[in-house]
Amino acid sequence: MSKKILAINAGSSSLKFKLYNMPEEEVLVSGLVDRIGHQDGVFSYKIAGQPDKHETTQPIEDHTAGVQLVIDALLGSGTIQDKSEIIGVGHRVSHGGRYYTQSVEVDDAVAKKIDELSVLSPLHNPVNLLGIEAFEKLLPEAKDVAVFDTSFHSTMPAKAYTYALPYKFYEEDGIRRYGFHGQSHQYVYGEAKRHLGEKATNKLISCHLGNGASICAVKNGKSVNTSMGFTPLAGLVMGTRSGDIDPEILPFIEEEHNMSPEDVRSMLNHDSGLKGISGVSNDVRDVLEAEKAGNDRAKLAMSIYIHQIQQFIGAYTTDLEGLETLVFTAGVGEHSAPVRSRVCANLGYLGVEIDEDKNLANDFEISTPNSRVKVLVIPTDEELIIARDTLKIVGA
Ligand code: ADP
Repeated sequence: MSKKILAINAGSSSLKFKLYNMPEEEVLVSGLVDRIGHQDGVFSYKIAGQPDKHETTQPIEDHTAGVQLVIDALLGSGTIQDKSEIIGVGHRVSHGGRYYTQSVEVDDAVAKKIDELSVLSPLHNPVNLLGIEAFEKLLPEAKDVAVFDTSFHSTMPAKAYTYALPYKFYEEDGIRRYGFHGQSHQYVYGEAKRHLGEKATNKLISCHLGNGASICAVKNGKSVNTSMGFTPLAGLVMGTRSGDIDPEILPFIEEEHNMSPEDVRSMLNHDSGLKGISGVSNDVRDVLEAEKAGNDRAKLAMSIYIHQIQQFIGAYTTDLEGLETLVFTAGVGEHSAPVRSRVCANLGYLGVEIDEDKNLANDFEISTPNSRVKVLVIPTDEELIIARDTLKIVGA
């Protein structure tokens, strides 16, 4: 019998949701509560099979008020007759630390651990927890499940996750590479395997290029290396995040510019990356436009952005001892033909060759028939991974 499962992705001022019929994986309603904490909060949702999106603007005081809007809309639209029909709510949770290598049902002890792990993910874990608490309050009949960004990467070997710091920092504080975007990398690997078969996807690199961005080396279905690290700041150049830099730069800037660690952290997370270099925007579309108009800093920003992606692909081909499939996903990966084209332009040495017409059309498979590596564009679906894991835990 079908079971209704909600998948939730809570941010600091937003809450994305999808209601599924499982195991059919049928989306019944999807929507977004946006500008939580503001007088002009926006609630929008779309019911499957109906042409129009519903959108209202009203004050949305906090996450609980946002969740109340979601439940009222599900009841009001007749999608559910009673709250008890929803048997599970899966929540995206940023950091599972060393504790969670798999998704888990949330009880008081788990909630406490997620809270403790906020030191490792101060921007995300606390707000993920707000989402969980709101559902516990308003939908107490449903079981809450935490689905961690970090879990998929728990298969990385120690040589990939250990930093060359005094070992006590790993032992005492859990300082190591964890990796993020796990649901997305796991999803696109699954889709690639479904279309190409297991044999052609044993050595796969997944490029999740959104506002945040990470690359993952997937060997025989398991993450063996990924570009984000202890936090989601590491690795690639992102919209506003620096990615990897020489760590000595940080104390230098603190001293030279009389900045506090908090100032520096904010600069690295919010004012760096494409935005910091170009001075134009965090959005690839804007930076490409500015580059076209002759802006040299925009051109430089794009060249660094592309170069970093290429470097990780090269490095991860070493981890995988070869490359069979290269996947692009998330906002930029799914929609930006120029980014994909520039990344692949220097990968001929790996046997990557793309068909520019297919690339421009955002086709599923954009490699040429002669390309030794299959190059795929796969729209990510993190919510589906959340719903599947939630069903596994609450549906038994
Ligand atoms: P997030 O990382 O916040 O989850 P997404 O994966 O949806 O977000 O990616 C959002 C980003 O995708 C935007 O900031 C924008 O830079 C980029 N993007 C969306 N569409 C395009 C496009 N057509 N060309 C280039 N970049 C795009």
